[in-house]
Amino acid sequence: MTDLKKPKVGIWKFTSCSGCQQVLLNCEDELLELAEVIEIANFREASSIQLNDKYNISLVEGSITTLEDARKIQEIRTKSKILITIGACATAGGIQALRNFANVDEFRNIVYAKPEYISTLSTSTPIQEQTLNYVDAP
Ligand code: SF4
Repeated sequence: MTDLKKPKVGIWKFTSCSGCQQVLLNCEDELLELAEVIEIANFREASSIQLNDKYNISLVEGSITTLEDARKIQEIRTKSKILITIGACATAGGIQALRNFANVDEFRNIVYAKPEYISTLSTSTPIQEQTLNYVDAP
């Protein structure tokens, strides 16, 4: 199969421990076989190369916890024909969603020596909540 015919796949990270990407990376032999039929065009855990392109499929790890996350997921959604969430962070907000039931400013002040440098949202939301209003381009 030539590169022109291979579906382009992007694997994206938002707020997470990167464990879901590690599981994919651990499928070493299977990944090599997959690379025969798909083009992995973006996979931060595996390569620093990032193509700014359209994707047939995007796999998304992590939840939305920063303004940058919220902006980036919209961009990735518009560039992806199919978007699939992987793991508890992306599908339900993950362990970081505990902040949804507490005061995130309190946490920030306890954890960081210079909390004023930490920019974060007060919530951690699953990917679906950020992309529900997406309408596929005609
Ligand atoms: S769901 Fe979230 S916490 Fe669990 S392994 Fe994946 S990235 Fe890590």
